[in-house]
Amino acid sequence: MRIFDPHIHMTSRTTDDYRAMHAVGVRALVEPAFWLGQPRTSPDTFTDYFDSLLGWEPYRASQFGIRHYCAIALNPKEANDPRCTPVLDLLPRYLVKDTVVAVGEIGFDTGTEAEERAFAAQLELAVEHGLPALVHTPHRDKVRGTARSLDVVTDSGIDPGFVVLDHLNEMTVGAVVDSGCWMGFSVYPDTKMTPERVVQVLHRYGTERMLVNSAADWGHSDPLLTRRTAEAMLASGFDEDDVDRVMWRNPVAFYGQSGRLLPDRSGEEPEAALYAGNSIARGGS
Ligand SMILES: [Zn+2]
Repeated sequence: MRIFDPHIHMTSRTTDDYRAMHAVGVRALVEPAFWLGQPRTSPDTFTDYFDSLLGWEPYRASQFGIRHYCAIALNPKEANDPRCTPVLDLLPRYLVKDTVVAVGEIGFDTGTEAEERAFAAQLELAVEHGLPALVHTPHRDKVRGTARSLDVVTDSGIDPGFVVLDHLNEMTVGAVVDSGCWMGFSVYPDTKMTPERVVQVLHRYGTERMLVNSAADWGHSDPLLTRRTAEAMLASGFDEDDVDRVMWRNPVAFYGQSGRLLPDRSGEEPEAALYAGNSIARGGS
């Protein structure tokens, strides 16, 4: 089984996670830029972070046979902080990089005007750069936040096929299914969606334009829940082709619109350096 996790924050994960992910079939992932927990105090700290998403994390992932891509953006929460918003002017420099396959995460956190301005401005950047956009839907007041997000997407004029609305659930997927946007589901151990609930959604709405991610970050999360969802799909009557579509071909199709995904080499043997003697295990601090 091959798995492409379309939304996972590896910055917050250990090398053991990379190893375990590879063992269950994860061969590629997209790491969107997000809030790091500690508020940033200047745009410079964003550029250091973006540089690590372009350099250090892909290197770390490659040690474990996983291809690492990223999405770059000013996240919704920090769109409210005037110390951070000047980073919007720096984004174009990053959106031309080879492994940047989307603009994201963007969208609403609490639903302020400042968030909406940053959201709209970044959709415009996605259009200008011919990139897909990864839209985070808010955790509170999700139904209204999702509807507002769809309005901002529509107003931007971006092709809805270039947009994924993420962190959806049973309450919000119905509003998105007819929009032409892609639908993302974050599977968590005890909040948001479980594997079984995602499978129910897939039975009801089909597998087209569906993306499943673990979103794993610093909170209680599990980078192997993509695999658990795949197994739940099989147990509920989906076949291996359905699983491959949701777990691999859909994310490849969505992010492939960037023109920056490398050819699929997932059938090949991983590099010899995969488990033994990598420099991180030896010299990491
Ligand atoms: Zn995220």
